[in-house]
Amino acid sequence: MIIFGTKGYLYQLAILTLVCGHCGNPSAHALRKRVTKFTLFFVPLFPFSTKYQTQCTFCGAEQKVTKEQAEQLQHGGAGGQANTQQQSYRP
Ligand SMILES: [Zn+2]
Repeated sequence: MIIFGTKGYLYQLAILTLVCGHCGNPSAHALRKRVTKFTLFFVPLFPFSTKYQTQCTFCGAEQKVTKEQAEQLQHGGAGGQANTQQQSYRP
């Protein structure tokens, strides 16, 4: 008899101050990584699903983000103020 299943892991990667897309408040957001692993006889073997999300601590709204977005958020946020590249777009 083979017993297999899945096990979920939740990692908190960072706390970020973002403007919430749900409530509009500039509040703390938890950046989390959710990994689902395949288990065999209750031993986790390999991850087959990795998802990233942010959760607003003000209203609790969760938002899915891509791996790229999650990495960008962890490394210096979305601003990049010290960047000297010129961007010429105007509203
Ligand atoms: Zn919110």
